[in-house]
Amino acid sequence: MSATLIDGKAFAGRVRTQVAEHVARLKADHGITPGLAVVLVGEDPASQVYVRSKGKQTVEVGMKSVEHKLDVSTAQEDLLAVINQLNNDPEIHGILVQLPLPDHLDEDMVINAIAPEKDVDGFHISNVGLLGTGQKSMVPCTPLGCLMMLRDHHGSLSGMDAVVIGRSNIVGKPMAQLLLGDSCTVTIAHSRTKDLADVVRRADIVVAAVGRPEMVPGDWIKPGATVIDVGINRLDAPEKGEGKTRLVGDADFESCAAVAGAITPVPGGVGPMTIACLLANTVTACCRANRLEEPEGLTA
Ligand code: NAD
Repeated sequence: MSATLIDGKAFAGRVRTQVAEHVARLKADHGITPGLAVVLVGEDPASQVYVRSKGKQTVEVGMKSVEHKLDVSTAQEDLLAVINQLNNDPEIHGILVQLPLPDHLDEDMVINAIAPEKDVDGFHISNVGLLGTGQKSMVPCTPLGCLMMLRDHHGSLSGMDAVVIGRSNIVGKPMAQLLLGDSCTVTIAHSRTKDLADVVRRADIVVAAVGRPEMVPGDWIKPGATVIDVGINRLDAPEKGEGKTRLVGDADFESCAAVAGAITPVPGGVGPMTIACLLANTVTACCRANRLEEPEGLTA
C-alpha cells in the first residue's frame, strides 16, 4: 500500500471533542443544552443499532437525547403528530427520523414535516434547495463527513476533478453539490454511465457511494488520486468462522490503495464521520436557533 490512510475514526473523535467543548460552553455561558430527538418506527435490527449508537454518542458529548420508538403499524397522522410536537419543543434543536420507514408511510411527506431548521439530516426539501443554491443550510451528514476529510487532507479542493459514483438523494447528489461549492469540476456517475472506468480515471477525487462490494478496482484510479469510500457492504467471511461476516467498501481496498494518494478504509473511514456530523449539525442548529456563534469548521 502506498496511499495515505485517511483515518475517519480518529477524525470523528476530534469532531466529537470539538462538539463537546462547544456544548460545554453553551451550557456554561448561556444555560442552553442542545437536544437531539430520534424517531424510530418499527423494529428493523440495523436501524435499532444506529439509533442506539446515535443516542449514546449524543449523551457522551453532553447533549440531551430523546428517543421516540413507535410501533411498526403507526399511522402517518400519528407520526406527523410526534414530529409536530418535536418541532414545537424548545428543548429540541435537531430531529431525525430513522430511514427507511415502513412501506405504508410516505417518507417524503414525513421528512418535509420536520421544521427545516431542526432537520439535522439535511433531507428536507428546503435544505436541499438551500444547499443547491449555495445558501446556508443543514447539510446531510455522510457527505458533510466526506467533505471535512477531503478539506483536511487537501486544504483547498478548488479546480480538482471529482467523480461521485452514485446519485442518491442521501449521499451522491448532496456530495456533488458540496464538491461544486468547493469549486471542483464535478461528474456524477451512476448505473447508466457509459464506460465508468474511463470516467473514474479522470478524477483527482473519487467518491464511491453505490453499495456494490469492491466494484472499483485499482486500475480505474488515477495515480495519486484520493478515494473516499462511502459503501458499506457485508460479505460472508468463512475464514473468520462459521456464519461470520466482514465489511467491505465499494472500492477494492488493496488494489486502490496501491495506486491512490489517499484512501478511506471500510470500516473506520466515512462510517464514524456520519454520526459525528449528526452531532455537529445538532450543535450548529442549536446555535442558529439561539442566534449564537456556530462552531468553526463543522459545516459546509
Ligand atoms: P442507493 O442505493 O440509494 O444509491 C446507489 C447509487 O448507485 C444509485 O444512484 C445508482 O445509480 C448507483 N449505481 C448502482 N449500480 C451502479 C453501477 N453498477 N455503476 C455505477 N453506479 C451504480 O444507495 P445510497 O443510500 O446512496 O448508499 C450507497 C452506499 O453507501 C451503500 O453501501 C450504503 O450502505 C452506504 N452508505 C454509507 C453511509 C455511511 O455512513 N458510511 C451512509 C449512507 C450510505
